[in-house]
Amino acid sequence: MALHIVAEANRCLNCKNPRCQQGCPVHTPIPMIIQMFKEGRLMEAGQKLFENNPMSAVCAIVCNHEKQCAGSCIRGIKDTPVHFSSIEAYISDMYLDRMTVERPAKKDKKAAVIGCGPAGMTVAIKLAQAGYPVTVFEWKGKIGGLLQYGIPEFRLPKSFLDRYQARMEEMGITIRTNTTIGSVLMIDELIRDGYSSIFIGTGAEKPRTLGLQGESLGNVLFGLNYLANPRGHKLGDTVAIIGMGNAAMDVARTALRNGSRHVTLYARSKNVTASSSEIAYAELDGAEFVFGMQIEKITDEGPVFKKAVFDENDRIVGYEDEPVQIHADSTVISISQVPRAKLVRTTDGLDAGERGTLTVDENYMTTRPGVFAAGDVVTGAKTVVHAVDGAKQAAAAMIRYMEAQAD
Ligand SMILES: Cc1cc2nc3c(=O)[nH]c(=O)nc-3n(C[C@H](O)[C@H](O)[C@H](O)COP(=O)(O)OP(=O)(O)OC[C@H]3O[C@@H](n4cnc5c(N)ncnc54)[C@H](O)[C@@H]3O)c2cc1C
Ligand code: SF4
Repeated sequence: MALHIVAEANRCLNCKNPRCQQGCPVHTPIPMIIQMFKEGRLMEAGQKLFENNPMSAVCAIVCNHEKQCAGSCIRGIKDTPVHFSSIEAYISDMYLDRMTVERPAKKDKKAAVIGCGPAGMTVAIKLAQAGYPVTVFEWKGKIGGLLQYGIPEFRLPKSFLDRYQARMEEMGITIRTNTTIGSVLMIDELIRDGYSSIFIGTGAEKPRTLGLQGESLGNVLFGLNYLANPRGHKLGDTVAIIGMGNAAMDVARTALRNGSRHVTLYARSKNVTASSSEIAYAELDGAEFVFGMQIEKITDEGPVFKKAVFDENDRIVGYEDEPVQIHADSTVISISQVPRAKLVRTTDGLDAGERGTLTVDENYMTTRPGVFAAGDVVTGAKTVVHAVDGAKQAAAAMIRYMEAQAD
């Protein structure tokens, strides 16, 4: 690996106008990092990456690089792009263990973070580095959000999250797991207990339903529920997956790794949301794809579809009359996810839009003063790097807010 990334770094043209950097949602200073790497200044490079994106070690693995840094690299026009992600993975992985954690003088205002996914982790780290005591409240038993309970182990080893937790605790961040806000404890109680500002990073983890007959049958499961604990479910030999997004690809690949032999993904149209590389991996693993299938209902036998009729431009122009019963041991529904309504229901003045996403202003402040939000709970289901981008801006706004507060 080391030799390969040195060769990769040497291919970088150190562009004056680095398109790779513009293509990155958090504008990672790619040519600068590559230069530092070539000069052997690895710890400095690691520090710069962590400062710009505390989740760099994760993003280096899970970002859609084809669409971002690599997809924008000038070398990619005539040749293969520079694969910066491999260089970033090498540096950030090393830095995560070797970084020196400094504890700045403590500020007298404290902050609360609700939810410990990439958005909450980023805010907690940024606030702790600025000297604010931070307590994180996490519903589940482990930190990481969808990095822990969504993205499968074979794509992102969970040990990353243990390493993050160790660094966060060294920074002085208190993490209260198995604690749901909006259930036993409410946002008003956090305010009562002296948190000067609060961040909501609760994500979008409620599976979207089809709203069709059969969804509650015993042979049916939602993708996110399956991925949270794949060994806890026996899907059987033949699995039908409704949906063809990236999460559906993870369901398919996980099912194939856990003993299912015939895994087929069904989509209504021919335009699917999964990235080409995720589709290619699922195909390599043995998944099959069937397009033009409109789900009608699910029975004890499996899903029932109506076949779409396409025109010459692959647009759906109608459906065949006769329904088609597919025989599958299990049907997994994986058609995206939305935020839960828990906090909105239990917090006066906290507004959400139509799809349950929290309403925020240009400073990421919600409709409740002093309460900020970012990540999937604001954008709807998106990506790790987009959650980090919003969280960084929210953390900066929280610091301004706390500084402006009179004692
Ligand atoms: C299967 C799957 C695969 C994915 N693959 C990729 C990928 O390859 N690359 C990529 O960039 N993105 C991927 N994503 C998307 C990415 O994981 C999310 O965009 C990202 O995790 C959002 O971060 P977040 O912090 O906003 O929310 P989350 O990661 O959802 O974290 C929210 C956290 O808040 C906690 N929480 C919720 N409610 C409460 C409450 N009331 N009180 C306390 N805690 C609460 C939750 O338990 C959770 O830990 C994938 C998503 C899925 C589902
Ligand atoms: S666009 Fe490509 S060649 Fe230019 S600086 Fe970025 S990685 Fe290097």
